[in-house]
Amino acid sequence: MAHSYIPETNGISMKMYDNIPKEVTNIVVTGKSGAGKQPRIDVLVDEFDLQQLSTGNIFRTYLGKFNDYGFDGDLSQFWDDEEECFLTDEEISKELDTDDPGVILGMKAKYFVDRGLFVPDYITNELFNSYFGRRDYRHQVLDGYPRTLSQAKFLLKLLEEQNTDIDFILWVENEDQKIIERTIKRRICPDCGKVYHLIYAPPPEGKCEECGVEVIQRSDDTKEKIRSRLSEFKEKVVPAMEFMEEHGISIAKVPGHLEEFTPENVRRSVLEAVEDIYK
Ligand SMILES: [Zn+2]
Repeated sequence: MAHSYIPETNGISMKMYDNIPKEVTNIVVTGKSGAGKQPRIDVLVDEFDLQQLSTGNIFRTYLGKFNDYGFDGDLSQFWDDEEECFLTDEEISKELDTDDPGVILGMKAKYFVDRGLFVPDYITNELFNSYFGRRDYRHQVLDGYPRTLSQAKFLLKLLEEQNTDIDFILWVENEDQKIIERTIKRRICPDCGKVYHLIYAPPPEGKCEECGVEVIQRSDDTKEKIRSRLSEFKEKVVPAMEFMEEHGISIAKVPGHLEEFTPENVRRSVLEAVEDIYK
């Protein structure tokens, strides 16, 4: 694998992290929504030559597959009200007239999303499994999964079945108050999706520098919604991570808030936290 722990920047060689293995199988990254996971994920992807697997992207991909397939019938025909489950994949495949498993999974996700319901764990697990398996259950950073105890149980069983591993969990810590302050000042370009922050990355004259369009606040970034995501983290995600730890997966905790936010500081704090678990 092509990477080194002694990157040369302007001729200055940086600290070595001798205890960190050169290769890892998979890593889970967790943290409250808005804690600052992405810059830490970027470090891991870069250091260990991994690919990021985000559940948000998985959902978008499968919903997109189903939408592209262009079925406009009523989805409730695929749901068995008495048994409270979907028909078998075989039956669905026949009705939809496709044997593309991606389209079938997309339909299942859309069924819940359309009804404003939480996607149940068994569907999330199925979506996750199909994606994770595309790269042989290896060399990935899991982002946004597992988020519940039952997902964590599914994951551990899957690791065993596929003879693969999670090397460690990187937990990005941040205080609720800091997250609320950061998130409510976040703005996004409705056209290109570029993210701004009124203090850290202000849009010039309130407009996107790429598109010239006025930036807006995402409907998910209100105080009420942030608080509800924070309590969901405590109630669901924390027990999932504790369960993984009880089953032998170490947790490396890293600060999501740095006094001086530079790429080198982010990298150093991540690698120091990882090194601590290998000491
Ligand atoms: Zn834009």
